[in-house]
Amino acid sequence: MDVSVIVPVVLGWLAGLFVNYAADVLPITRRFSQPACPHCQTPFAWMDYLTLRACRTCGKGRNLRTWLVQILAVIAFLYFWLFPSERLGFALGMIVLTYFGILTVIDLEHRLILHFTSAVGAVLGVFVGTFIYNKEFSLIESVGKSLLGGLIGFGIMFLLYQIGARVARYRARKMQSAGQADDGEEALGGGDVFLLGVLGLMTGPAVVAILFYGVMLGGLVSLLLIVTLLIRRRYSNDALMTFIPYGPYFILAAFYTLFF
Ligand SMILES: [Zn+2]
Repeated sequence: MDVSVIVPVVLGWLAGLFVNYAADVLPITRRFSQPACPHCQTPFAWMDYLTLRACRTCGKGRNLRTWLVQILAVIAFLYFWLFPSERLGFALGMIVLTYFGILTVIDLEHRLILHFTSAVGAVLGVFVGTFIYNKEFSLIESVGKSLLGGLIGFGIMFLLYQIGARVARYRARKMQSAGQADDGEEALGGGDVFLLGVLGLMTGPAVVAILFYGVMLGGLVSLLLIVTLLIRRRYSNDALMTFIPYGPYFILAAFYTLFF
C-alpha cells in the first residue's frame, strides 16, 4: 500500500477533532468558544482537549461520541481518498462530509439545527451546487439551479412545518382540556426548514428526491420503533406523537445522493 494514505488518515483525524469541537461548543455557547468538561464545566486546556485527555478536575474521560467520531472520520476520509465522490472530488467532498458530521452530531444530541450552521451551510451549499451543475451547464445556469433547489427544499419544508405546527396546537388544546400539561412536542423541528434549504442549494432540484427518501427512511424507522413497542406491549397513544428527528435522515439521503 502507498505511503500517501497517511494523508487521509491525518486529515480524517483532524476533521474528527473539528466535528467534536463544533458539536461540543456550538450548541452550548453558539460560538467557537473554549471547550469545557460537560460534567464539571471546568474549561479544558487546549492541549488536553485536542489530545482527548480526561478532565483533570473531575477525572471523567471523554465521551463515547468523541471516540466514535474520530474513528469514523478516519475511515470515511480513507475510503473517499481511495474512491473519491465523482460529483465532488476528494477535497470538497471531505468539507461537505465534515459539515454533515457536525450537523448530524448536534441534531442527534440536542435535536437542534443551529442558525449558525445553517448560515455557513447556505454559503457552502451555493458553492457545492454550482460546482456540481457547472460540469454540464453554464455558471449562471448552475447558480440558478442551486438557488432553485434551495427554494424548493425550504418551501416544501416550510409548508410541512406549518401543517405540523397546526397539529401541535390542536394537540396542545386537547391535552389542556384533558387536564394534562402541554409537553411542547413539535412534530417537525423548525430547523429542518433551514436544513432542507441548505441541502437544496447543494443538490439543486434533486432535493425533492432527498425529501422523499428522508421522509420514507424516518417513517420506516419510526414504524419499526412502534412495532417494537407494540410487541413489548409498551405502546401508548403518545408514542405516535413522539417527535421524529428527521434531520439525520435528510442528511443521510443527501450524503448518499452527493457521494454515490
Ligand atoms: Zn470535569
